[in-house]
Amino acid sequence: MGTLRRIIDSHVHIDGFPDPVLIRRESMDSGVDAVVCVGGDIDSSKKALEVAGLFPGFFYPAIGVHPANVLKSDLSEAEAFISKNLGGCVALGEVGLDYAYDFARSKDVRARMREVLERLLEIAADVGVPASVHSRSAYRDALDLVVDSGVEAVFHWYDGPVHTLHRILDAGFYVSATPSVGYSKGARAVMLEAPLERVLVETDSPVFVRSLGRESVPSDVVGVVDALAELKGLDPVEVARVTTRNAESLFRV
Ligand SMILES: [Zn+2]
Repeated sequence: MGTLRRIIDSHVHIDGFPDPVLIRRESMDSGVDAVVCVGGDIDSSKKALEVAGLFPGFFYPAIGVHPANVLKSDLSEAEAFISKNLGGCVALGEVGLDYAYDFARSKDVRARMREVLERLLEIAADVGVPASVHSRSAYRDALDLVVDSGVEAVFHWYDGPVHTLHRILDAGFYVSATPSVGYSKGARAVMLEAPLERVLVETDSPVFVRSLGRESVPSDVVGVVDALAELKGLDPVEVARVTTRNAESLFRV
């Protein structure tokens, strides 16, 4: 039997923090016992692997190419890196589609995003790891590609339409709650609809959070648990317990 973890932050950009040792200490002091570190390009993916190598059992690595970086990335180089390293990771991520960027208005760029996602999902399917998927303003296309790939997935920070949420849930996937569950109408609607058994919690830190008045840190995931509990009328202890088991099950940690 492993230790009974309290809370897992399921999506953090650890390359955004100068001192992972401090982040780990603050997190553990706050009741956060594990952090999944995602990468958005080769450099940040290497950082996730490096930090996870220093603190195995606390930081868990994921590697990927974020849709913001598809034009800057050499796909064959990224594929080679991910093929080589994904076996040592808990997930492919952060990967996905995002049609909301100014540069993503063109059909060609969107097609390129889908091509990159499709190729990386194929690798994840071969290796047998789940994906942490970004899907802003491209919810249906992202879902279709993930379904076709056969990989398990969490639709991270999902705040898209509720009918697409139901397709995500019907396919057996997870959605994650972020600090936005405290203030965003879209995120709250999603979290009211999604059963707790299909929900993970995360911070996507570091990002500036208006309600906090500062950049987020992984320990802010405790506030996500509290906000989710209040929204759903549940005990925060139960929300922590179930979302932690969900993360353990998806990432096999
Ligand atoms: Zn992210």
